[in-house]
Amino acid sequence: MLTRAGWAGRAGRAGRAAFAGAVLLASVTLVAAPPPAGKVSSPRLYIFDCGVIKGLGVELFGFKAGEVPPRDFFVPCYLVVHPKGTLMWDVGVIADSAFKGDGKPATDGRSTADKPLLPQLAEVGYKPADITYLGLSHYHSDHTANANLFAASTWIVQKPERDMMFGTPPPGTIIQTATFSALKDAKTRILNGEDHDVFGDGTVVIKYAPGHTPGHQVLFLKLKKFGPLLVAGDLYHFPEEQTMNRFPGFEFSKEQSAKARVEIDEFLKKTKAQMWIEHDAATNAKLKKAPEYYE
Ligand SMILES: [Zn+2]
Repeated sequence: MLTRAGWAGRAGRAGRAAFAGAVLLASVTLVAAPPPAGKVSSPRLYIFDCGVIKGLGVELFGFKAGEVPPRDFFVPCYLVVHPKGTLMWDVGVIADSAFKGDGKPATDGRSTADKPLLPQLAEVGYKPADITYLGLSHYHSDHTANANLFAASTWIVQKPERDMMFGTPPPGTIIQTATFSALKDAKTRILNGEDHDVFGDGTVVIKYAPGHTPGHQVLFLKLKKFGPLLVAGDLYHFPEEQTMNRFPGFEFSKEQSAKARVEIDEFLKKTKAQMWIEHDAATNAKLKKAPEYYE
């Protein structure tokens, strides 16, 4: 771990000129490393910085202008490492291919990312071939940018979500089909509006929480030291959506969202899980980012 981090630091200083080179170097270095899955005795969670979305008006999320302060949205990507395998959860707003290899951030509209995902993954010892499962909270383009990189993993998706992704999304849907097109032929575990215990021991559970999109889902983790945790996808964007009972104006079904929020609320009470709103800047400012981790 220390050796790898030290290597990553040196490579970072020496090789910022070419991210592609850094990725290649990482792969070469990691050939000699022990297989990463199975090297933990209990689940571990890494949070990667996959960028920021700036300048979204609060009106989009059901508030009046000035009612709550506007904030930048953090864009996290997550890696769960379990003794039996790995799960990537949400894969960013900017594709790694958008980086020019000059060490500079990549920007697309309101979204900017300082660094691509794969070098961050490599820094903690993983490459796409090490990823057993891919899960997306939902199909919005700020969660799917690098999905094609994980097409060799088993994709876990709710049927109504997949149907929309490869069907005809209504005009105005926040979707970039090209970012996940390779998933069409990926090994897929289709869920029929149900929860799914990913590794069969109750420590990593995908929960069906539709409404934001037809098959929106959230991720429940039982971490040994940290305790129970719910990574909430876009069930909320601002904490005030929860306290002031507001909904984004672009929900696929506000009625479903309301029901899902009530059910998740009950689940949080029952499990005493802490909830992280993925985009919430205040939550994320306090969290450890990779190479640090939660376990
Ligand atoms: Zn989002």
